[in-house]
Amino acid sequence: MPSTASLAPGPRRAVVREVGLRDGLQSLAPTMPTAHKIAWIDAAYAAGQREIEVGSFVPARLLPQLADTAEVLAHAKTLPGLFASVLVPNLKGAQRALECGADLLVVPLSASHAHSLANLRKTPDEVVAEVARIRAERDAGGHATLIEGGVGTAFGCTLQGEVAPGEVLRLMVALLDAGADRVSLADTVGFADPESVRRLFESARREVGDKLACAHFHDTRGMGLANAYAAWQTGIDRFDACLAGIGGCPHAPGASGNVTTEDLAFMLERMGVVTGLDVQALLALRRRLEAWLPGETLHGVLWQAGLPQVLNGVAAVAA
Ligand code: ZN
Repeated sequence: MPSTASLAPGPRRAVVREVGLRDGLQSLAPTMPTAHKIAWIDAAYAAGQREIEVGSFVPARLLPQLADTAEVLAHAKTLPGLFASVLVPNLKGAQRALECGADLLVVPLSASHAHSLANLRKTPDEVVAEVARIRAERDAGGHATLIEGGVGTAFGCTLQGEVAPGEVLRLMVALLDAGADRVSLADTVGFADPESVRRLFESARREVGDKLACAHFHDTRGMGLANAYAAWQTGIDRFDACLAGIGGCPHAPGASGNVTTEDLAFMLERMGVVTGLDVQALLALRRRLEAWLPGETLHGVLWQAGLPQVLNGVAAVAA
């Protein structure tokens, strides 16, 4: 599928980590039945996805949509070679993730102090301290689960406005010092642009090297793919994405959510970056998701035109 033989500098292979079952479903009102979540994971796996965030260990009263995370994770673990992650906000959630044998637990930290207090009811440094407790618990139990510190609102946030890049870098280093195995950067509310992405990811790489494991972009303002491309050029080879771009932004009702899995997979493959993904199979899965989420607004672009077609040996050209 690549369009050209030459390739801009960037990793030759990349992972699209599906986060729709967590980041996507948590912001939709209806609760998807467990059977549909399992069917989603099976189909994503069949389409080549090998890293899936299956849910979150948070109290069911806060997020009833993700109350079945243990069951969904147990199913994910039956698929050979699937790396299953969960989000955990604190030590209690981490204990469940460790008991359930998650391959990775992601601890969200908000670089914006205002956002951190509003959403996690902790300062960023209190989250760092929690990561140290999680690491101690992991090591004491001899668990193989990896710990990722996910630094959110890294490009600014609705409550605080600007977030200083120096503070983002400080928190990444603090997370690693506290025992996180790796860190990721997230544009939680769609404030990033490709140039700010390039600058922050380059600085982050200088600071933490290959411990910088993943980029998480939202397409709130239509710059999700451009931001992913900018991050890829700085060496990022793992991206979070949601099938059909589900999710959204609590501060911008109707706005699209995460970068769309099938659009991102198409872009990377088109660029000659190997993802292991079958884009047609992802488009077929998107149609099933549409049926599973009646009345919900789905996002993304590729589904409208499908993959590029060549008609009668001549490329179809739109006037
Ligand atoms: Zn997100």
